[in-house]
Amino acid sequence: MTAFWAEPDFDAHEQVTLVHDRSSGLTAIIAVHSTHLGPAAGGTRFWHYNDPAGAMRDCLRLSRGMSYKNAMAGLPMGGGKAVILADEQRTKTPEMLAAFGDAVEGLGGRYVTAEDVGICEADMVAVAQRTAHVSGLPVKGAGSAGGDPGPFTAQGIYLGIRAAVRHKLGKDSLAGVHVAVQGTGSVGGGVARLLARDGARLTLADINATRAAALAAELGGDAVASEAIMATPCDVFSPNALGAILDEVGIAALDCAIVAGGANNQLARPEHGAVLAARGILYAPDYVINAGGIISVATEYLARRDGRDGDIAEVDALIARIPGRLEAIWQESAASGVSSDVVADRMAQALIGRG
Ligand code: NAD
Repeated sequence: MTAFWAEPDFDAHEQVTLVHDRSSGLTAIIAVHSTHLGPAAGGTRFWHYNDPAGAMRDCLRLSRGMSYKNAMAGLPMGGGKAVILADEQRTKTPEMLAAFGDAVEGLGGRYVTAEDVGICEADMVAVAQRTAHVSGLPVKGAGSAGGDPGPFTAQGIYLGIRAAVRHKLGKDSLAGVHVAVQGTGSVGGGVARLLARDGARLTLADINATRAAALAAELGGDAVASEAIMATPCDVFSPNALGAILDEVGIAALDCAIVAGGANNQLARPEHGAVLAARGILYAPDYVINAGGIISVATEYLARRDGRDGDIAEVDALIARIPGRLEAIWQESAASGVSSDVVADRMAQALIGRG
């Protein structure tokens, strides 16, 4: 059997902590990939896995992804992630959240947690009863950083789409630029609203067809069936729902010049970045364009650690740097002939001292 730390997903994680609390029934994994740039920041996922090995793999991949995302966002934070292994009924109790808070506290600030799939703001408030190493807590007042990261993620994606349109299509305005948005939830809905304000032409889709139709009616766009969105002829395809949509079939279906959206892990496998590039499609690496949320969460945490409230102007200033990062990636990609996802990975690895 291969040693655990020789598995590719382990990727030289600094620390992996297995947590089991008998009295509450909590089972969790906390992965710290890198603290090279600062405390390892990344949310907690609450999910039912059929197999514990799958939970470990998910945690390790997400944790490494956070190292890359935080580094490329210019944050003084490393990367980490936690997974709570839920039972089939997804039982979540205050005692489990308290035990999880104790486990985070036990890491002494090497890991900072926040919301992820299955974990809401109220859960983080419960965890914060036991540890200070937590973020994504309710906003304290107007102008303060914190709260739902979705609108900040959407803001960064909107700026990234503008940069991509400028780079690929040579247009400074989004007026009349056709964007197909997959997923109209917190992120996709926010992106669509910002694009509509600039006069973009929108086609929207969601597996919740009523939600997509209502937003299309409000913004003056079209709604299509969720199966049809990837093949919609458009300038920009913006994936804001699921990961792993860019596989051979998905990429072959695309009829766009640009892929730029917020979904995590859009490439089904690493080689799909080159497949996109071979089709002449400009790709905005997902963890670079979707960093607005973690920028908000990290700013809130760092400010609280310094005994002050995070300022939303700091968050906006960091999000405003996303287009410049993307432009640097695309330029390097054009100069080297290496696909933009690999260029981004190499930049991130250099930033975390693993280049
Ligand atoms: P959300 O749950 O608010 O919205 C997701 C939407 O996608 C829902 O409306 C859902 O019905 C729809 N959807 C699911 N499967 C679909 C499909 N096959 N086709 C079309 N629509 C589908 O989630 P969110 O917070 O908006 O996150 C969206 C994506 O962005 C996720 O991949 C998430 O990991 C990623 N992301 C979110 C944030 C954030 O700040 N919320 C930050 C970084 C990355």
